[in-house]
Amino acid sequence: MLRWETIRKDTSYGIPPNLVDYDRERAGFSWSAARVKLQGLPDGRGLNIAHEAVDRHAASDRATAVALRCVGRDDAVTCVTYKDLALATARFANVLRALGIGRGDRVVTLLGRCPELYTTVLGTLKNTSVLCPLFAAFGPAPVAERLRLSDARLLVTTAELYRRKIAGQRGELPGLRHVLIVGEGTDQPAGTLSFRALMTEADDTFTIPPTAPYDMALLHFTSGTTGTPKGAVHVHEAAVAHYVTALYALDLHQDDVFWCTADPGWVTGMSYGIVAPLLHGVTVVVDEGDYDARRWYRILAGQRVSVWYTAPTALRMLMRTTPRTGPYDLPRSFDLSALRFIASVGEPLNPEAVVWGRDVLGLPVHDNWWQTETGAIMIANFAGCDIRPGSMGRPLPGVAAAVLRRGEDGRAAVVDGHVTVLEEPGAEGELALRPGWPSMFRGYLHDEERTAAAFADGWYLTGDLVRRDADGWYWFVGRADDVIKSAGHLIGPFEVESVLMEHPAVAEAGVIGRPDPVAGNIVKAFVALRPGFDATTTMRQDLLAFTRRRLGPAVAPREIAFDRHLPHTRSGKVMRRLLRARELGLPEGDISTLEKDTSEKDTRSQGKDTFHPERSPSSPERTEQSA
Ligand code: AMP
Repeated sequence: MLRWETIRKDTSYGIPPNLVDYDRERAGFSWSAARVKLQGLPDGRGLNIAHEAVDRHAASDRATAVALRCVGRDDAVTCVTYKDLALATARFANVLRALGIGRGDRVVTLLGRCPELYTTVLGTLKNTSVLCPLFAAFGPAPVAERLRLSDARLLVTTAELYRRKIAGQRGELPGLRHVLIVGEGTDQPAGTLSFRALMTEADDTFTIPPTAPYDMALLHFTSGTTGTPKGAVHVHEAAVAHYVTALYALDLHQDDVFWCTADPGWVTGMSYGIVAPLLHGVTVVVDEGDYDARRWYRILAGQRVSVWYTAPTALRMLMRTTPRTGPYDLPRSFDLSALRFIASVGEPLNPEAVVWGRDVLGLPVHDNWWQTETGAIMIANFAGCDIRPGSMGRPLPGVAAAVLRRGEDGRAAVVDGHVTVLEEPGAEGELALRPGWPSMFRGYLHDEERTAAAFADGWYLTGDLVRRDADGWYWFVGRADDVIKSAGHLIGPFEVESVLMEHPAVAEAGVIGRPDPVAGNIVKAFVALRPGFDATTTMRQDLLAFTRRRLGPAVAPREIAFDRHLPHTRSGKVMRRLLRARELGLPEGDISTLEKDTSEKDTRSQGKDTFHPERSPSSPERTEQSA
């Protein structure tokens, strides 16, 4: 029985949805047929994302259409047409070439949502180099780690970010040949080049070299439960999936004004903040500012946004300022009449948020599901179909999904190389996808072992637990591993634990996600101190500040509890699962692998001391958004 009533599809659409008959569209779909939607490089020289997203339109009657509408922090709007973008990206490709950056070389961005970011991304792709975006709110530790792991050759950033996060570690990054600084004025740190000066000197014609569909195009870091971050490799052919999924799951039509609130430092902001909408030739709204409810409504209204792709945390923050049962003053004071479709991704979308959209904004929110490795939306609620609030929807045409039986470790059970597909409605298991969609990652960079572990018996294993109902709708249950989703960001507990361990007072740490009504989860660390260090408020503040400095606000723990008796497996690993169960008052499950604690055992005297969020210097509301 569904707790929330199905929201019937809106048949009064002014614009007919791209997908009306789900079953028919799925039955008739093939990826090879979908490829013809893209043009390909002239003279059969292959497939390049930047050609499809920019040059193709610049050479058509869309040339003078606005590609990017950048809203500055001061609300000033700068428009970039497809023609402008073609010229700027050609210049940047020439800049790279002149600096000796070529095919396959990694170009990394550490930037806010400024126009130069878009030029860099698309110019890099034109040059057949590989673009790797980093989230500007990362601290120096995650930035340096990713620069190293990606084999970064060139970095584009600002003077301020460079000084704060890179300058001190530049000597440890010998492979990083060039740093380009974006920004006005004369602030040019030593050992860097001026983005603007190089662009001014560069030629604005560039012929894209032959590009094989399987050439590496994008590198996105994602987090695992242990080990270093994983660099998921994506190829130019992914554009086929970006095009198709934006057509079906975002219902893009050419005259749309589209706003994806995700930061391009993350995969959603890249695939759907840049690539997919430009493939469709629509106008993309780029907001340089940060989340603010009034600002967001102002952008939706002022820019006449018609399709809006956002995140559950952001919606929950909006819901706080505008309850469903209230007088809706805030959104009602803005003209949202251009808005015709809302979608959300990245974390579970609670049914209340779907219904809040309908009641307060006049449109229900369409949840969809995907992840860094899938490169594009895989499961969605569609504009032309009913919505089951709380469900992620159904697999896209061309996507085959299944629910697999789990083993003792919580992941899909693989017995003699085989998995078991659970057919019965409502069965819970690990979500798996049949490889073959064009945007599937082609492996984790330099990590064959973890790449191989992501596949079994012809399936890609997502690490997510789901249920599928009798009609084929998928419902998110949770993660099958320890990674944490906080405000839409995937955080690896190991990365946080490693930085905590760098602190001289910390003997050991275990990091979990603690449920939070707005951010989904917040990062909570359990810390055992070394002898001679006391579990004081000052120590806690020191650790919070230390991790925030090293990791940045999006990744650092928001709560720290001191605990001298962290639970361990017999092999000595901190049992995060148990920490989480104890934190949430859940059954502890199988603890047969738990190491016996032989020290004094009175729980109350263990020095267990949980930090209360209300005393936290940074409440979840201040969480930096992927939104
Ligand atoms: P990322 O690779 O950082 O984009 O994170 C992907 C993960 O986010 C997925 O594996 C899920 O755990 C979670 N996720 C994405 N979309 C949804 C959704 N619609 N509902 C629930 N969880 C989601």
